[in-house]
Amino acid sequence: RMALLEVENLCTEFRTKDGTVTAVDDVSFTIDKGERIGVVGESGAGKSVTGLSILQLVEYPGVITDDSSIRLNGEDLLAKSEDEMASIRGNEIAWIPQDPLSSLNPTSTIGEQIVETMRIHGYGDDENDRRQRAISLLADVGIPDAANRFDDYPSEYSGGMRQRVLIAMALSCEPSLIIADEPTTALDVSTQAQIVNLLRDVTSNDTALMVITHELGLVAELCERVMVLYAGTVAEKSDVAGIFDDPKHPYTKNLLKCSPHLTMGEELNTIPGSMPVGSERPSGCQFHPRCSEAMEECSVVEPELLPDGDGGEVACLLHTDQEYNMKVDQP
Ligand code: SF4
Ligand code: MG
Repeated sequence: RMALLEVENLCTEFRTKDGTVTAVDDVSFTIDKGERIGVVGESGAGKSVTGLSILQLVEYPGVITDDSSIRLNGEDLLAKSEDEMASIRGNEIAWIPQDPLSSLNPTSTIGEQIVETMRIHGYGDDENDRRQRAISLLADVGIPDAANRFDDYPSEYSGGMRQRVLIAMALSCEPSLIIADEPTTALDVSTQAQIVNLLRDVTSNDTALMVITHELGLVAELCERVMVLYAGTVAEKSDVAGIFDDPKHPYTKNLLKCSPHLTMGEELNTIPGSMPVGSERPSGCQFHPRCSEAMEECSVVEPELLPDGDGGEVACLLHTDQEYNMKVDQP
């Protein structure tokens, strides 16, 4: 498969008066055409900021640093003007936001909101064409009696149906990439399963999916590859089978023990301690204050992301063949 999105050395910083907070710290990954990738980590790991950086929707005072590179089909997105990015958003890259209720306009009908997305991007021949397409999209995402529900307001739809509407809206201009931020968090368990199936069904050779989630269970059901983020850095990358059968990074192992869908009947763990936030970052491995396998050098040496010998990559000193004989520049 061909590379669709290539993110290289992405750094996104929030430059506040209290100091610089690095939300995304040197993150690189690719998404192939039609591929489904999960970006996993705790809240504050930099997952949403990574997604928003791709769309250049990071809010002030967030800044993508000059060394960062984001390419879509080989084109440098960071060199685009705001007008060009506005046309890429929704058209080439669609975002499914976290909260379906607050992302829909309560005063406009469901159908009109889908039509409007297409209208903005000049998609469809005319209003009638867009209307017909919106109805068939609503039917495709499983809204029963779609033609008659077209003129309903968001308040007349259930939470699950609203999430389906956002998926229909994301699909409306046939994007090559959909980024979904915690697409199932607000839903009950049976609706979650339906949305997972729907997201799997709507990805195709022409549409790739990047799912942002704290839930490894969702990744297990939906994705082909996983990137685990911790404190803005990549802890581990792997295909899905590898992450569950043979997790390499201690943080990934912890996440697996904390995933309700994967530890059914077993005691659900939480990872002791909390992720570093703000400008106070630990030296060495970002995870070392919480890592049960930490060694002395972990507080000094920052692990590099290196091939793990199984086709994936891991940033952990337990999994490195390199010489790290304390050649650290001491201040
Ligand atoms: Fe734990 Fe050390 Fe590996 Fe970091 S580098 S995850 S502290 S063992
Ligand atoms: Mg988030």
